This record gives sequence, C-alpha cells and structure tokens, in this order.
Amino acid sequence: MSYSEICDKLIHILIKSKFMIKTFPFTLDSLPYAYDALEPVIDKETMEIHHDKHHQAYTDNLNKAAEANVELQTKGLEDLLGSGVPVVKNNAGGVWNHDFFWESMTTPGVSQIENSLKVEIEKAFASVEEFMSKFEAAAMGRFGSGWAWLVKNKVGGLEIMSTANQDNPLVDGLTPLLAIDVWEHAYYLKYKNKRVDYVKAWWQVVNWDKVEERLL
Ligand code: MN
Repeated sequence: MSYSEICDKLIHILIKSKFMIKTFPFTLDSLPYAYDALEPVIDKETMEIHHDKHHQAYTDNLNKAAEANVELQTKGLEDLLGSGVPVVKNNAGGVWNHDFFWESMTTPGVSQIENSLKVEIEKAFASVEEFMSKFEAAAMGRFGSGWAWLVKNKVGGLEIMSTANQDNPLVDGLTPLLAIDVWEHAYYLKYKNKRVDYVKAWWQVVNWDKVEERLL
C-alpha cells in the first residue's frame, strides 16, 4: 500500500469516527460553511432555520431522552439509530442525518463527479444521467417526510433508496454516501410546494469530493 493510500485510509477512519464518537451530551456542530454559502440554490434563511432550529431541536430532544434513560448515555450516536424507542430513533436520526447532509453540500458549481466515484456510478447505473434520474425519482417518490440516499451495499455496489422520517440506511448495514433531505422544512421557504424544483437545483450544491471520500 502506498503512502497516499495509507493517508486516504486514515482520513476515512477519521471521517467515520466523527459520527462514532458523538455521545451524550450531544452537541450541535456549526455548519461547515456560512449560512448563505449555498445561495441561490438554498437560501440563507432556510439554512438558519434548518440548522439552528430543526437540527438543534433533534439534538436537544435526544439529550432529553438520554437524561431520562442512563443506558443511552454510554452509547454512540450510531448505536441509537436502530433504537426500538421512536423518540430515540427519530432524534438520533435527526442529529446524524443533518450532520451528514451539511457535509454533503458545498458552494454551487465547484464540485464534479470524477475519478473512482464516476466509475462506480457508471458501473451501477450505466451513466451519470441515469443515476441522477433514479435518485430524483427516489426523492420525489418519498411520500411525506424523509430522505433519498445513495448508499454502498454490503458487497460494495452502489444503490439508491429512500427512507421515511429520520430513518437511516446504516441500520440495514448500508453505507450512506449522499443524501437529500426532502422534508418540507428543507425547501418550502424558497420552493414552496415544488419539491421537484428543489431536487433538480440541489445537484448544483452536491459536494462530490465528499461523496468520493465516503466511498473509499
Ligand atoms: Mn431536515
């Protein structure tokens, strides 16, 4: 293994551990960019409310659940995603999924699908266009609130799926690579009822470098 491959592996372990080490008391990380960094695709006010109110509320509610049940206080955030207690599962998912979502985005137009990610996408979906079309269909087909995901399955292939509410593919042994939040709070201020316009515009802010990092 070359020096750069070893570095890539170490970076990957660190990225994964960022979520593993989140334990009680859970804290809300700052956005990895300014609130207006995703303009005009996602407006500043949506980002402020989404991060400071919604993501904060999931964090606070998960802490409240853990305060009431000491067994939860020694578990990592990922262990709580599959909890049989709805308030734990939903708020743990709310914390994890939004951490993941913020890091999946960057300034519009700066990132492209390249290298090994492009190869894997073409292997699974024949073309980038076909992948995007299937991902959009998953995002549009999710009735009510939830997420659409690109995941790596147990044998290393790529798949598209959607989950309801704050459910997370990790619970089914799948590795999330990319996700779009299709709860109305993610887009309603700017796009109103037009989820399709939000989903199609969203491609401009995807951080493909981050997606490729997660693939390693
Ligand atoms: Mn959300």
